[in-house]
Amino acid sequence: MIHKALIANRGEIAVRIMRSCREMGIKTVGVYSTIDKDAMHVRMADQAVCIGPAASADSYLNVPAILSAIEITDADAVHPGYGFLAENAAFAEICENYGVKFIGPSSEAIRLMGDKIEARRAVQKVKVPVVPGSDSAITEEEEGLKISKEIGFPVIVKAAAGGGGRGMKIVHSPASFINAFLTAQSEALSAFGIADVYIEKYFEQARHVEVQIMGDRFGSVVHLGDRDCSIQRRHQKLIEEAPAPFIPARIRNRLLKAAVDAAVAVNYNNVGTIEFLYVPDGEFYFLEMNTRIQVEHPVTEAITGIDIVREQFRIADGKKLRYEQKDIHLRGHSIECRINAEDPEKFIPSPGTIRSCLFPGGFGVRVDTAIYPGYVVPSAYDSLLGKLIVHGDDRNEAISRMRRALDELRIDGVQTTTEFHKKMMANTDFTEGRLWTNFMGKARA
Ligand code: ADP
Repeated sequence: MIHKALIANRGEIAVRIMRSCREMGIKTVGVYSTIDKDAMHVRMADQAVCIGPAASADSYLNVPAILSAIEITDADAVHPGYGFLAENAAFAEICENYGVKFIGPSSEAIRLMGDKIEARRAVQKVKVPVVPGSDSAITEEEEGLKISKEIGFPVIVKAAAGGGGRGMKIVHSPASFINAFLTAQSEALSAFGIADVYIEKYFEQARHVEVQIMGDRFGSVVHLGDRDCSIQRRHQKLIEEAPAPFIPARIRNRLLKAAVDAAVAVNYNNVGTIEFLYVPDGEFYFLEMNTRIQVEHPVTEAITGIDIVREQFRIADGKKLRYEQKDIHLRGHSIECRINAEDPEKFIPSPGTIRSCLFPGGFGVRVDTAIYPGYVVPSAYDSLLGKLIVHGDDRNEAISRMRRALDELRIDGVQTTTEFHKKMMANTDFTEGRLWTNFMGKARA
């Protein structure tokens, strides 16, 4: 039985995880950098330990400091949240060796899925379609050019170790290939420490559709339905919804099965997400797997009624899944808008002090945030202030509810992306389901 969990994260996700812990009777340890001493997650935790100065490398990514915090507080579990150490296989392995439960999959699964080339190979073995592309890392530019011509331009050169929307270069023609390839290689090395890149066909018109899965240590895997996360800027998600709208039932069934097959193939336990590209001719292709809780998990919680964080703890604690596929019922439609401290036109970060804030409420509305009046939004971390999540009987009701909730939302002191979301909820491409990942490049909201 887990008694005390250290939450190795900050912001809304740390608060979100602590809420489930409190309900489960698990004590919580918060960790914080000096700049975060007044943060909500610090106040909410049963105990809190300072782990270093503001720079993430010295605090939230500082493994020795986090291990010391585990030691002095006697925590028996660590939840990494998303980002920071969530997909760091070495950290998960240290926890395993230390006898501390890592609230996530095994370090082997993290390592395997963290290498996007290996991940492609692993799922191909069970006949899950992958984006057409190279089967291994490409080291020579001439070889890359040859493969790209075979695949057909445009192509996308990707870092094998990439993540968070970074380490990708779209190439439209053979003439610009060599330069882009060499840049991608050197960027991959400097950003991720591994120069390996691979090549995929680039789909100009595609949707990002992903499947939430959940597996236990006894080999059972279920899915919790799908999500659409196509509205992105620079490959970073801005709006997510569940279920993914406008997908024919026969394709959806194949997609959900492919996700479960992929998870079973890698012996996956805990919660995870299999990401696909869905293209208008009706095909879908595996992109990658995320081996952690995702920012957008609340939309799935809304349509399934399942607290995904609670299930993460139960699975890591060695319990059997308490749901079979037939027990999972999807109801209605849910949308999430990420409210960032950014200029709503240019998306430039806008750190500063929250003078006042007032959150929407009422039927079918959820707000996951860690801000409060007087809170200082630091520039050291990502700009997510919170997430506004609505649930309705169908997509149209969810959109109306989101409009109403956005109108009620007040955040003064910093600029936020609220206005962008208001425009999106009125944009006919969005409301009618023309949801392409390059939406922001092609159209103005
Ligand atoms: P990351 O691990 O950085 O999130 P992904 O491989 O998941 O990278 O891709 C992130 C986003 O980039 C996708 O959601 C999609 O918008 C875009 N993308 C990635 N690969 C392709 C592709 N082959 N064609 C079109 N868009 C792509």
